[in-house]
Amino acid sequence: KNFNQGGATIFQNISFSDIGGQATAIKELQEALDFIKNFGKMRALGIRPLKGILLTGPPGTGKTLLAKAAAGYTDAAFVATSGSEFIEMYAGVGAQRVRKMFQTARETAQKIGKNNALIFIDEVEILGGKRGQTTSHLEYDQTLNQLLVEMDGLRADDKVRVLVVAATNRVDMLDPALLRPGRFDRQVKVELPDREGRVEIIKLHTRNKPLAADVSINSIARETFGFSGAHLESLANEAAILAMREGLTEISQRHFHEAVDKVMMGEKLDRRPST
Ligand code: ATP
Repeated sequence: KNFNQGGATIFQNISFSDIGGQATAIKELQEALDFIKNFGKMRALGIRPLKGILLTGPPGTGKTLLAKAAAGYTDAAFVATSGSEFIEMYAGVGAQRVRKMFQTARETAQKIGKNNALIFIDEVEILGGKRGQTTSHLEYDQTLNQLLVEMDGLRADDKVRVLVVAATNRVDMLDPALLRPGRFDRQVKVELPDREGRVEIIKLHTRNKPLAADVSINSIARETFGFSGAHLESLANEAAILAMREGLTEISQRHFHEAVDKVMMGEKLDRRPST
């Protein structure tokens, strides 16, 4: 993962078409982002600016990709971080990092001549857990409070308009204050892909790989119930490695078949009854 402490990483190269099997999430996300794209109209109607979007769902389903694509869609500078980067032993350091993150986002946007900045916070439950419950330490509360302060301070006529996109697979752990209007008041569910979704994702991750004539993406998709996008990416890579070990220049169906076991062994997959 490409988290760059306190710094900014700019991704211009991810679009929604690079994300497989998330049609509903993409549609909902785009609808929310259109508020930002149609900034003028929105303002004329007196609609308050969208400040936060929460992406919820299991790991490896493409939440980070969606955030990157959202930055591209709104022509925003992209700054990524993770909740774990705010957890510090010393009081006040986490809060200071939150302040710095908003500052970095604004500066980065200005540096590259953009009016929008998108801050992505992965694993937001680590910094935004329920206050007074996740820990006895006051430090976390200060960090979360600072995030709320920064979000409350965002204005439609700011020189750089900041949108915060956060991701979590534990929405139940979040402090309810984060979900209030004017904060993360839009939620987009990002689910594990269904069979058709898996077909799309496998296609995306094999598009630059030489496949033998016997490869059936449909049957790979059938074999991979419960796999996330990240698992499928790893599957395509493992299959290619197996083919290479045999000195072949094409990947065959049996390589994918073997790779399924490898990926499953690598991780205890949550494979609910097949549909
Ligand atoms: P986490 O919750 O662990 O941060 P995430 O939901 O943010 O995970 P990503 O980091 O976006 O997941 O995905 C990891 C990698 O898995 C991606 O870089 C991509 O290669 C692949 N991937 C995941 N989901 C998809 C998808 N829907 N379409 C295509 N590739 C995907």
